[in-house]
Amino acid sequence: MTSQEIRQQFLDFFRSKDHRIVPSSPVVPFDDPTLLFTNAGMNQFKDVFLGTGTREYKRAANTQKCIRVSGKHNDLEEVGHDTYHHTFFEMLGNWSFGDYYKKEAIMWAWELLTEVWRLPKERLWATVYKDDDEAFELWKQVTDINPKHILRFGEKDNFWEMGDTGPCGPCSEIHINLSDDYDNPSYVNAGTPECIEIWNLVFIQYNRDETGKLHELPAKHVDTGMGFERVCAVLQNKSSNYDTDIFMPLIDEIVKLSGVTYKNEEDKIPMRVIADHIRALTFAIADGAVPGNEGRGYVLRRILRRAARYGRKINLKEPFLFKLVDVLVSTMGSVFTEIKEKQDYVKKVIKAEEESFNATLDRGIELFEDVVRRLNKNNQKIIPGEDVFKLYDTYGFPVDLTSLMAREIGFSVDEAGFNKLMEAQRKKAREASKEKFASVNVVLTDLSSFNITDNKQVEFTGYDELKSE
Ligand code: ATP
Ligand code: MG
Ligand code: MG
Ligand code: MG
Repeated sequence: MTSQEIRQQFLDFFRSKDHRIVPSSPVVPFDDPTLLFTNAGMNQFKDVFLGTGTREYKRAANTQKCIRVSGKHNDLEEVGHDTYHHTFFEMLGNWSFGDYYKKEAIMWAWELLTEVWRLPKERLWATVYKDDDEAFELWKQVTDINPKHILRFGEKDNFWEMGDTGPCGPCSEIHINLSDDYDNPSYVNAGTPECIEIWNLVFIQYNRDETGKLHELPAKHVDTGMGFERVCAVLQNKSSNYDTDIFMPLIDEIVKLSGVTYKNEEDKIPMRVIADHIRALTFAIADGAVPGNEGRGYVLRRILRRAARYGRKINLKEPFLFKLVDVLVSTMGSVFTEIKEKQDYVKKVIKAEEESFNATLDRGIELFEDVVRRLNKNNQKIIPGEDVFKLYDTYGFPVDLTSLMAREIGFSVDEAGFNKLMEAQRKKAREASKEKFASVNVVLTDLSSFNITDNKQVEFTGYDELKSE
């Protein structure tokens, strides 16, 4: 079964259960200051859950473009090192807005997985929130899951929240154990590639406010999210998402460009990272984000620089990321037409970013290696703040890139030292700008004697904030 067919079957299944199929919202949310990127299918329905907005339908389903690189859901560190966390992924979802609840959500999830897709029941596991007896009983009543395969977990795994505030509630998840030891409960939520979470059914019941307090919502809702790339791997009998038809064309192109084969783990990691990151970059840029120095733009810049540097590990030196856009558009452009429409623009933006980082990347890597040699001589394993700062300030290395390079060789970075230098730089910038405004003020005051009254002071908000979001 191709990934296109799998996506379509999901949507057809929920259409047959009277769900309205709605478009994915952009991956860059323009109307939610609590979010840098869309991190779940439910984001576009937040107002419905909170009771501040309505839709003309009570049931919906879609495939939602998500990016998880900041805030509460941040998987950046895992990406490429494991085979099932991506920065950008599609989340298949179905929703009930004050309509059906736990029973139908569980029943239909089971029906799709075991009757339509015929996944082996003996390998499936369900988890419920520790106090959720209702969901626990429903799994036994409305499905034929092995009752021993229903497990209870606490807040961390079975209470879902989109961010620090907003709609949330207990959830029930479905995991699949693909190992020979599939009847063993200890695999579930253990973070192994043999047993992965494929679908989360969230029972939205509360809103968490800024003080952390939970408030009952006016109605109860269902919000589900299934990892599309993960379910494709399972249905295509692959042990890695990167071996599915979603990623293989990208991997093939990277193999072609680099001349390195996709074989040893050492080469596979950079190839997976690159195949992953080009998706996040393309979709985010097509939806209006631009690499830059602050907030969302800086997150993109970090992703791009990370990918460029991984390219160096497989001999890719000239700008290469932008060349992958065409392959991505040829595999996904018919489903997400925005990347096809913006294809040339996206390539230009990525190429320009690659070129500007390329100018300093090799010299930065050299500096990093000099520092490591120096530290090795003294048996030290922490990259000093000054060097981290120099890499940032002179060579454009985001601190997480330096940390990653350090981690790869068993080193760490002195983040506190780095932050101190950053703060000092910011302070200097603030002072410099104060002086500038002081002189502007003088001029304006002078002019005011000529009856010009508008001499509003402009508030300076700082340079390159290095927030970890
Ligand atoms: P995990 O525990 O594997 O990190 P999660 O519990 O954080 O997943 P949810 O927030 O429950 O994930 O999201 C719903 C579904 O989206 C998950 O069941 C999973 O299939 C998929 N998913 C979550 N994060 C990613 C990711 N980074 N890449 C690909 N799929 C993901
Ligand atoms: Mg997660
Ligand atoms: Mg989980
Ligand atoms: Mg989950």
